[in-house]
Amino acid sequence: MSFQSYNPTTGELIGTYEEHSDSEVERLLQQSHDTWKSWSKTPIEDRSAFLIRLADLLESRAEEYGALIVSEMGKPLAEAVGEVKKSAFGARHFAGDGPAYIADEAIPGTPSKIVYQSIGPIFGVMPWNLPFWQVLRFFIPAALVGNTVVVKHAESVQGSAAAIEKLILDAGAPAGLYTNLVIDRRRAPQIIRDPRIAAVTVTGSTQAGRSVAEQAGALGKKVVLELGGSDPFIVFADADFDKAVQMAVVSRYSNNAQSCIAAKRFFIEESIAERFTAAFVEAVKKIPVGDPMKSETKLGPLARRDIRDTVQRQVDEAIAAGAKLLAGGKPIGGPGNFYEATVLSNLPHDAPVAREEFFGPVAMLFTFKSEEEAIDLANDTEYGLGATVWSGNPERAERVASRIEAGAVFINDFVRSDPRAPFGGVKGSGFGRELGGLGARELTNAKLVWKG
Ligand code: NDP
Repeated sequence: MSFQSYNPTTGELIGTYEEHSDSEVERLLQQSHDTWKSWSKTPIEDRSAFLIRLADLLESRAEEYGALIVSEMGKPLAEAVGEVKKSAFGARHFAGDGPAYIADEAIPGTPSKIVYQSIGPIFGVMPWNLPFWQVLRFFIPAALVGNTVVVKHAESVQGSAAAIEKLILDAGAPAGLYTNLVIDRRRAPQIIRDPRIAAVTVTGSTQAGRSVAEQAGALGKKVVLELGGSDPFIVFADADFDKAVQMAVVSRYSNNAQSCIAAKRFFIEESIAERFTAAFVEAVKKIPVGDPMKSETKLGPLARRDIRDTVQRQVDEAIAAGAKLLAGGKPIGGPGNFYEATVLSNLPHDAPVAREEFFGPVAMLFTFKSEEEAIDLANDTEYGLGATVWSGNPERAERVASRIEAGAVFINDFVRSDPRAPFGGVKGSGFGRELGGLGARELTNAKLVWKG
């Protein structure tokens, strides 16, 4: 079987990739395991030096990889180049600060210490929405601690998948430190079951994560899940109004509005709701939609036609449930997967569609009367990835942040990942952490060594 990659802007076929046979998969898994045995013994200085070379290459190839990302998933070129540069920053960060994250830790009052050691080849199931960053933010700390990785990337970004494997070899990695497995999702169970695979990490939909976790759990293998989100964006009347409006647009519509940590549900204090709605809708109507290779474009096409169909189904259901359409609401004709930047208000909280993640350019506006109500509404979701609180009152902002059920709360700023800080969710958004010190230690054996 082979995979096809289509340009979401033009609908053109841009690549065909042959699937690995069972015998190739067997050879690659053995290679990954063999490389783990040697890589885990290399001095950490050498692993850091590799990450520096990786960062250098990512920086020098940022434009090339950016264009590749645009061709496969359609986000604006500047954001795609930014994704590659952020990956370089991640590699540089872990090369410098990573060794301290996994340094031995003495346990006070005892003759013992914790040493953080690698656990083996890690199987990563990865999505198309940030085809370089999602993969590299998992690979970089994993490689630093001495693991190897085997990746099943999304079917629609096989060009990026192949480019990442080549990049890592070009940076001087031994064969098998990073393996790109070209396999269909139906063959994932055979990789999860393989005794050479030590743990599994999934970034993608809640459905995909739970299915993989069930299989790994049955075998007692460690799992990290970075799944979807329906992040609340809470704006109090005392917030910096203009900044909140501006960041609401950035948070919802960046990355072609296909980001797990995008704000998706906007809760506005009643006294400013009318003014906020008017300013937000005006800004959304001005978002330049079009060819993602053009510098003025801020919103490109959705990555696949079926994703656009899902967005249309959700918008139709929301309107049928009583939502008011304030902007957009339909696909844009032509060969690409374009969809209008859309704003909905007045959707009843208990409508089934209000509980779904909108993975496309649709913002849902709600109002609240009190702090208590804002917290209740924000937490009334299956998800728990990120959340944003806007208020000019620091005590209130901290109080609200402490009661939000999410892996991250940003105060007076929009949610984003940063290589220096842990990233992950609670509830249906998953468990485990990537990035920062917690992320570096997540896929290690925290071994106790006690000296009698
Ligand atoms: P998926 O979760 O289906 O795809 C992400 C990755 O998981 C792909 O590599 C996919 O493979 C793989 N996958 C899916 N199901 C399984 C399975 N049962 N076993 C093993 N691997 C699996 O996301 P979609 O692309 O279909 O997007 C659907 C929704 O997922 C979005 O609307 C959004 O809600 C959410 N999503 C969230 C992301 C995030 O950043 N948290 C990223 C992407 C999607 P393949 O491509 O071969 O199908």
